[in-house]
Amino acid sequence: MILAEEIAKLKKEKNAIILAHNYQRPEVQDMADYIGDSIELSRKAMEELEAKIIVFAAVDFMAESAAILNPEKKVLLPSPGARCPMAQMLTVEEIKRAKTQHPGVPVVVYVNTLAKAKAQSDICCTSANAVQVVASLKADKVLFGPDRNLAEYVQRQTGKTVIPIPEWGFCPTHLLFQPEDIQILKIEQPHAVVLVHPECTSEVQKMADFVGSTSQICRYAKKSCAKTLIVATEEGVLHRLRKDNPEKTFILAYAGAVCPNMKLNTLERIYASLKEEKYVVKVPAPIAKKARKALERMFELR
Ligand code: SF4
Repeated sequence: MILAEEIAKLKKEKNAIILAHNYQRPEVQDMADYIGDSIELSRKAMEELEAKIIVFAAVDFMAESAAILNPEKKVLLPSPGARCPMAQMLTVEEIKRAKTQHPGVPVVVYVNTLAKAKAQSDICCTSANAVQVVASLKADKVLFGPDRNLAEYVQRQTGKTVIPIPEWGFCPTHLLFQPEDIQILKIEQPHAVVLVHPECTSEVQKMADFVGSTSQICRYAKKSCAKTLIVATEEGVLHRLRKDNPEKTFILAYAGAVCPNMKLNTLERIYASLKEEKYVVKVPAPIAKKARKALERMFELR
């Protein structure tokens, strides 16, 4: 594809790399230097030494994390409209209100938050390590936001009291999965295993053979002996799953589970972004400093 070749040339010329989330379009994943979930991409961005420019094919909060963790680099978000609606759900005011209501209770925020929310927290987590992060805290009670489903999952796994902030936070894409979809697929494919992301409702999670982040789902699928796997997370992951496991069949539990925000990063926009070095992601220094602390605390648990 000509555009992909042009992007490759520009990358070389400008000493840039492309990091792509597992939910990106197939053609974007295929030309990325690195594909992963949010923790893998954040770590990659933090540890990147060579490149001058990081093109972050994902949504706003992930690019912000890259800019916070590696301030020396120019971080570009190819599509400025690629904003995660769930990240908008946890405001600074909401966190402050929760802290007042629950004094002394630690605040754990999902990386799917804006930098200003991270700056108000004690520690960050991703869907891959949320259980580990909460388990590591001495407190029996934690404030956790913005995803209510992930909060409930962490509460079940750790036995601690996990208070969701806000009470109703959710990912609009993962909320689309319903237990009925999986029930029907299980009747049609009785030997299939069911892999579910923890942003799905607890009813959907209860039907899973495995609950995990996108990269944990990819690893599980590779090791599994099952020939057919039903997957409840954003459809972009199926591209990677099928590529890595051509002998297995993957079925998306609900065909409409597409995150429109993630799909805003097209090859055309990546090309324009790299050529014109737009849209640069910047986080004000005082916010970045505090948010970085919360992110680093999470990485220390490695
Ligand atoms: S899949 Fe959900 S959490 Fe992820 S970017 Fe889209 S809306 Fe946000």
